[in-house]
Amino acid sequence: MKKFVIETDKLAANAQAIQDRAGVPVIAVLKADGYGFGMLQMAKVLSENGITMFAVTEPEDALTLRENGYTSQLILVMRSTAMQDEAEIVVRANATATIGSPEAAAALSAAAQKLGTAAKAHLKLDTGMGRYGFLSSQYEHIKTVYTRVPNVTVTGIYTHFHSAFADGDATHKQCAQLLEITERLTADGIEPGLRHAANSSGLYGYDDLTLDAVRVGSAFTGRIPSKAPTGLHRLGYLESRVIELREVPAGHTVGYGAGYVTKRPTKIAVVPVGYTDGFSVEKKKDLYRFRDVIRYLIGEIRTFFRKGIITVQVDGKPARVLGHVGLCHVSLDVTALDIKVGATAVLDVNPLYVSPLVEKEYV
Ligand SMILES: *Cc1c(COP(=O)(O)O)cnc(C)c1O
Repeated sequence: MKKFVIETDKLAANAQAIQDRAGVPVIAVLKADGYGFGMLQMAKVLSENGITMFAVTEPEDALTLRENGYTSQLILVMRSTAMQDEAEIVVRANATATIGSPEAAAALSAAAQKLGTAAKAHLKLDTGMGRYGFLSSQYEHIKTVYTRVPNVTVTGIYTHFHSAFADGDATHKQCAQLLEITERLTADGIEPGLRHAANSSGLYGYDDLTLDAVRVGSAFTGRIPSKAPTGLHRLGYLESRVIELREVPAGHTVGYGAGYVTKRPTKIAVVPVGYTDGFSVEKKKDLYRFRDVIRYLIGEIRTFFRKGIITVQVDGKPARVLGHVGLCHVSLDVTALDIKVGATAVLDVNPLYVSPLVEKEYV
């Protein structure tokens, strides 16, 4: 009685718009099961719409893509790994590895040697993400990876922006660091290969960071933080039905903790969707910095004064969620709506949190 609906035409339009904006090849990031849209379903729509390069985090995902017919596309595995068994999966998938450390280079080299083949890789530069990558100060290591790792050809170099959605200075500095390294490589007679840095916010927030390619994921879903309108379609919603319609008197409580008390006789519609499906579930905010704590508190106080109203569209009209969202149900106030059992309910969700148990339907 519920499904996660993904509008193919909107995804296709986003893919076109992103490629137009980029003006350089787009490496479509399909991590986290294609941001919840299904890695393979998303790969299908994107490849039908001009995308020829994919990126994943898990080596197994590269194999899965290959096994499902994506044989000619570049597949970048963005996780640098010093584990040889993981590197072997990357090599077996004929994917492009990420080398972010001398150990990762050694593991990839050994994997290629063992499988009797050559491996391709992009080198990762850590310009402040602090996750994978060589530091700029490790230039000699970087040079070695390009020139002296047996069975490995480096075909590109990249870095990842940590604050493209917020901090232009930091972002430009990160990009400049990458270019400084590629210029040094060129000066030393080494071809750096494909240079890429921009993620979705890097592509949509700036005009000068596209380099030779961009790595974009969330923009396909139409959900990126951006000051200016992006023109992208926000897509993906949960669809369910009203399975019960009930009348309760004024003063009746609704939901766990009696979170809501009716103010008048109320018509309630029950829809069998809840947290378990990913409705009304958000990642807890990271509160590492004092200013994040302040922002968070202000947000919570605002929500309190707006009474945290969540709405669901019932037959195209907004209906308020009464009380707390349950694990498997929500109760809606449909007093003012002329609806019947079986009415369609459309729920806004973050695709990242939609349960994989909910059937996906590309329409
Ligand atoms: C997730 C990710 C991206 C894409 O980021 P979006 O903001 O979703 O476009 C690009 N590069 C790396 C290394 C990533 O992990």
